[in-house]
Amino acid sequence: MNKFDAIIIGAGPAGLVCAMHLAKAGLTAKVLEAEAEIPITLRGSTFHPSSLDMLESAFGAAQPLIAQGLVAPTVQYRRHGEGKIAEFDFADIKDLTEHPYRVQAEQYKLCYILRDLLDDFPNVDIVYNANATSVSQDGDSATVVVNDGESEYTGAYIVGADGANSIVRRTLDIPFDGFTWAERFLVASTPFDFTTVFPDLSSVSYVADPEEWYFLLQIPDGLWRVMFPTRADEDDDDILSDACVQARLARVHDKGSPYEIVHKTLYNVHQRVADTYRVGRMILTGDAAHINNPLGGMGMNGGIHDSFNLAEKLVPVLKGEAPPDLLDRYSDERRSVAMEYVQRVSIQNKKDLEAANADDRDTFEARLRGAAGDLTKRRELLLRLSMWASLGKTA
Ligand SMILES: Cc1cc2nc3c(=O)[nH]c(=O)nc-3n(C[C@H](O)[C@H](O)[C@H](O)COP(=O)(O)OP(=O)(O)OC[C@H]3O[C@@H](n4cnc5c(N)ncnc54)[C@H](O)[C@@H]3O)c2cc1C
Repeated sequence: MNKFDAIIIGAGPAGLVCAMHLAKAGLTAKVLEAEAEIPITLRGSTFHPSSLDMLESAFGAAQPLIAQGLVAPTVQYRRHGEGKIAEFDFADIKDLTEHPYRVQAEQYKLCYILRDLLDDFPNVDIVYNANATSVSQDGDSATVVVNDGESEYTGAYIVGADGANSIVRRTLDIPFDGFTWAERFLVASTPFDFTTVFPDLSSVSYVADPEEWYFLLQIPDGLWRVMFPTRADEDDDDILSDACVQARLARVHDKGSPYEIVHKTLYNVHQRVADTYRVGRMILTGDAAHINNPLGGMGMNGGIHDSFNLAEKLVPVLKGEAPPDLLDRYSDERRSVAMEYVQRVSIQNKKDLEAANADDRDTFEARLRGAAGDLTKRRELLLRLSMWASLGKTA
């Protein structure tokens, strides 16, 4: 039997941020990762100014991420076939953040950086090929069984950073209420440079269209990622067929020849939040606690913010400097952010882009144009986009 301060299940962004905090505090922890190495999943690729500030000041982790990523100083909203509605420049909040831009970098790059930083801390390490197959707790400790009994790890606490399908959340029977959108999202990556045909395009551009909105995102290595909603009645194989992907891209811009497609994936999209993030000695963070649509890039960033908030409380609890009840505050604070901010904003983002009714479209565009023309409103909007507003920061 191994005994640690904490067992963290999952070496994704949320788990590794938590692990780094415990490592720096001199506490002992194991990070259990089901895969043979840190998974290279093509999901999150936007790091907000709030997350960059936190990662840099706590671990010096933003600079290496910036070095491997692409700095996007502006965010743009457009209407299909018409062009730019409004553009927002993070320079307008440069007095409030050390990083007045988004960084586009695949989320595994942050995981690699944190994994390498953990090498300096013998008190915390990552165990790969360690699939947590059951978890349990009693008054004194919490235990994880790995690979159906191959090994066992015990800690004062278990942190469930094990993603949307969390075994910790399911074992605790915590309701994960919300809904799943009928349509899935298709993501296709291409080396075609959209700025050659839309010269005023930003690296992050949301394009509204009642027929089929899309989202254009420039990522490192000379690629653009394009995200589309699909129709609920479309068949998966059809959606992913070359003909269908080409047709969708040709609607963005018909370049008269097929697009080179480097990667394409179809995702189910959910809006769900766990009823509580803590039961006794087990705590949820990241996607294990909440999932939302990717419009606004708030899933991974929210998970990073969770783990910062959690560490602020778990470290003193583990050191005997604060009562365990402090962890309920983590649950309350971060659950409120998920419910009142991330769910609301990500759902509204989707509604704005797909709005079919002329009044809704006008309201959306008037809101953006009104904000673009007024510095105070621009700053408020940028604080929302950068997720500073979810952390209580005001202009
Ligand atoms: C298309 C798309 C685009 C997105 N873009 C963005 C974006 O730009 N910005 C943003 O903020 N978010 C984005 N997201 C969301 C983001 O990807 C997730 O919110 C993020 O990955 C959550 O991090 P996490 O650490 O909580 O979970 P995960 O990244 O899912 O990590 C969980 C880890 O736990 C491991 N694991 C799972 N079960 C077990 C087990 N039983 N035992 C051991 N290990 C286990 C997994 O292998 C994995 O490594 C996007 C999502 C999608 C689908």
